[in-house]
Amino acid sequence: MRKINLSSFQIATSETARNINRRIILNLIRTKQPISRADIARYTGLQRSTVSQITEQLIDEQWITEGALGQLPRGRKPRFLHLNNERAGIIGVNVRPQITTLALTDLSANFITQDSLPTPSNPQVFLDQLADRIQNLRRSHTNIYCEGIGVGVPGRVNHHTQKMVFAPNLGWRNVDFKNHLERATGLTVEVENAANSCALYELWFGKHSEGLHDLIALTVSEGVGTGIVANGEIVSGVDGMAGEFGHVSINEDGPLCRCGNTGCWEAYASNVATVNYYTREIGKTNGKTTTRGTSPSFEDIMRLSEQGDQRAIESIERMAHYLGIGTAMLITSFAPKLIICVGEVTRVWNRVGPIVESVCKEKSPMSSSTKIIPLDEFAYPRLRGAVSLVLQKHFVAPSFA
Ligand SMILES: [Zn+2]
Repeated sequence: MRKINLSSFQIATSETARNINRRIILNLIRTKQPISRADIARYTGLQRSTVSQITEQLIDEQWITEGALGQLPRGRKPRFLHLNNERAGIIGVNVRPQITTLALTDLSANFITQDSLPTPSNPQVFLDQLADRIQNLRRSHTNIYCEGIGVGVPGRVNHHTQKMVFAPNLGWRNVDFKNHLERATGLTVEVENAANSCALYELWFGKHSEGLHDLIALTVSEGVGTGIVANGEIVSGVDGMAGEFGHVSINEDGPLCRCGNTGCWEAYASNVATVNYYTREIGKTNGKTTTRGTSPSFEDIMRLSEQGDQRAIESIERMAHYLGIGTAMLITSFAPKLIICVGEVTRVWNRVGPIVESVCKEKSPMSSSTKIIPLDEFAYPRLRGAVSLVLQKHFVAPSFA
């Protein structure tokens, strides 16, 4: 149910109907390709002439192309329609505190070329380096027209000012990715929280969300992020600030978080938390705390756990327990049909998944209707999610009254 907003609405015209039908057809071709005009008419219930008119326009604008002739026992052979992947390139950027990855992709987010750079600690230096790398990607494929840049960031972007205003794991405040990159490249730039872009990845490219309206993307990395889709839309809150479950305190007396709060969920359930558990255990054994420089990485601990190292196993299981505590909170709050988990932790999901499931079962009365699925990290959900930030402008459902 959505109430009509009388201070911001658009009345319906014949153009409105055409626009809605055009979006429906474009999305249908994207998801069902190859598909014939006759099948589109059957599927949508639209008249053949309307379908022809709209598909002609989409062909003219190069959104779709006509492919091979279909095989029918008799009568005229239909021509199949495809999304024109080569119409434009999109640049996706995935920013993380240690490393930033970027790629030039086609319209279906298939990678054409990729690059990465260590993320410098100074945001201005970073933006200059990133702009150079983006221009290099474009120069390597000058034949591809570039539609725009999507940037996924480990922080919260104010939708009003477009600045990244809250990013405790980067330690940056009020960084204007959009303005800077638009000036440096001349392309349109969309910036969004990484967990939100992972939720979009699943909606646009994922295999698990067909027909779903309620799902959550849970990113577990240096911190913990949540991208919440409720009733088919990303929950954004005032100026896009909603969704910081990683910084909800689950223990007032807990450890100090980088956001300044104490006992935040991510201080218990992130890669960094796991490293802290492990170094504390090692410190206990050695009778001293391990110095910073010799701390193992989260990858090291995962590897050790697979080799049977008991302290590594316990650290990961402890993190999994707390991942379950917060996930149960999400399930009880939003009753999503699906939670997708993104991050390195999915590599040890055989160990982590059952713990998360069992804590959710114990703590949330709604847990049985929610599926929790680890996403294959080699599907690059964060990077391809950034690409979908650009893509969605052309494919998203139009909103009117
Ligand atoms: Zn926090």
